[in-house]
Amino acid sequence: MNKIFEIIDKLESVHSLDLEEYEYLIENRSIDSANYLKEKAIKLRKQIYGNSVYIRGLIEISNICKNDCLYCGIRKSNLSCQRYRLSKEEILDCCANGYLLGFRTFVLQAGEDLYFSDDILCDILKDIKNKFSDCAITLSLGERSKESYEKLYDAGADRYLLRHETADEDHYKKLHPDSMSFTNRINCLYNLKEIGYQVGCGFMVGSPFQTTLSLAKDLKFIEKFKPEMCGIGPFIPHKSTPFSNYSAGESDLTCYLLSIIRLIHPPILLPATTALNTIDPLGRTKGILSGANVIMPNLSPTLVRNKYELYDNKASFGSESAQNKKEIENQMKEIGYSIVIDRGDIKLH
Ligand code: SAM
Repeated sequence: MNKIFEIIDKLESVHSLDLEEYEYLIENRSIDSANYLKEKAIKLRKQIYGNSVYIRGLIEISNICKNDCLYCGIRKSNLSCQRYRLSKEEILDCCANGYLLGFRTFVLQAGEDLYFSDDILCDILKDIKNKFSDCAITLSLGERSKESYEKLYDAGADRYLLRHETADEDHYKKLHPDSMSFTNRINCLYNLKEIGYQVGCGFMVGSPFQTTLSLAKDLKFIEKFKPEMCGIGPFIPHKSTPFSNYSAGESDLTCYLLSIIRLIHPPILLPATTALNTIDPLGRTKGILSGANVIMPNLSPTLVRNKYELYDNKASFGSESAQNKKEIENQMKEIGYSIVIDRGDIKLH
């Protein structure tokens, strides 16, 4: 039997590969190996989640950021970015709109905006939990101290998304300024896990200087860390960043990696991301059909949506808009899946 299919069979049965095998899988990918992987990923996902797709309402609470990640459109050095920050009332309004639409998870995401102290965030979290007690809250607010993560958890946060961005330290250094540290990012992830959060890591596909080995290391990290969630999407350049002239990552490779990640950790919550849907008009359905089981439509106030511009032409309206849930439901129905009204926690058993 062809080596690549043997490797896929091994991954399916032991959920683990050597770095070299991951590299082989990526370097020798073909339509046949992608289809073979997809079939296995879908089978596993169906065994655990049936045809259900979970939705999360994404609320982008601030685009103010103290960091200067070289790839990111809201990096502090981008002076053309129009900055905004939502008030507590605006955030609660977004949750109320989302609740009526059937969302039972709210994701509060932002740049690293120092205004959001622990006290301010805890107050917001407690209010959301009081008003929407059957909902989960996911935070995606970057790197904070362990004490801070603990306070936020005690105030009601259930999950935390912090993409590791790359599991290759040399690669990390090429994507970030010297003030940011790979070790700190990884430590944050372990701290979050220790506290009890459902934790999401993740990376961009096709980011500048990424190699097959760095991708293999990402997969090995996921295998070892066993996150409850993993966000992967193509890198897309932003015109006002140092990476404006680099090309975007590929939709097909992103989908291939989604299938591999499903095989590594079958119960994982895996979104078909906005970035995938931005570079490929069929990105969302392709993502779901490769093993993803989560969609995160945008619930932010429409007036600020264009300002949270992480990359050029980031989709936030149309089928990326929470208000168009019907369209999203129809899209899923067409491929045999259904959106459920549910917190959508990981199913470990
Ligand atoms: N500040 C928080 C953090 O650092 O985790 C959350 C917000 S951050 C903007 C969310 C994610 O956007 C990052 O983890 C990164 O992977 C992704 N992102 C930023 N710029 C991107 C780009 N040009 N293309 C694709 N994804 C990008």
